[in-house]
Amino acid sequence: MSTPRPLIAGNWKMNGLAASLGEVRALIGALEDRSPGCRVAICPPATLLERLACSATGSALEVGGQDCRAETTGAFTGDVSAEMLRDCGANLVILGHSERRAGYGESNSVVASKVEAALMAGLEPIVCVGESLTEREAGTALSVVTSQVRGSLPAVLAGRIFAVAYEPVWAIGTGLTPTIEQIEEMHRAIRETLTQMFGEAGRVPPILYGGSVKPSNASEILGACEVGGALVGGASLKAVDFLGIISAA
Ligand code: PEP
Repeated sequence: MSTPRPLIAGNWKMNGLAASLGEVRALIGALEDRSPGCRVAICPPATLLERLACSATGSALEVGGQDCRAETTGAFTGDVSAEMLRDCGANLVILGHSERRAGYGESNSVVASKVEAALMAGLEPIVCVGESLTEREAGTALSVVTSQVRGSLPAVLAGRIFAVAYEPVWAIGTGLTPTIEQIEEMHRAIRETLTQMFGEAGRVPPILYGGSVKPSNASEILGACEVGGALVGGASLKAVDFLGIISAA
């Protein structure tokens, strides 16, 4: 089993209008010049997905959704299915982001059903886990995160291509980051959980780190043990910042 290339994925959240496609064109141009040793993806809001995917056709840039509904069709106003994301040109989808878990009450089992739907549609899931500040301060971060991993990753993932993103909730959009020791401790615990769940195949999926990654800290974070890439929010909105992170991978 070969180690996959690191994955650097940008989560634009609810940011971006048609004018933002200029950033994507700048990013694609730079990727052509540099041919980085990592995979690069942007997960725009659903409104930009198809246009972004069209711009990225034939380039090294991959495209992902930020969430999907577990059901394939039906009366779910405002939601999108995994198949719809695929139909727009996405090959990845972020699932279980803490903003979805906290803001929409998404439980581990809801996330697990979305993962199954993503696989059925041919999408590669990036499954997010991470503890709150209260949990970190209470000394329960490891048990919270490993139980999120167990509950959010269905057995059907065995041997499939997916990624886990460790995103401490208190580090998202705050400028705060855990120490490298804390990141390595958590990534090792996630890897051990993956191997308990999936055997040798559990050594393959990249474990991304997310939470205030920027060009100035990317190299140290991406160099940490068991860090197989990054999920980047704010610093993915501008091509120049995102490229600074990509260069560090
Ligand atoms: C995120 O929302 O997934 C994230 C990591 O955000 P930021 O990089 O802005 O902290």
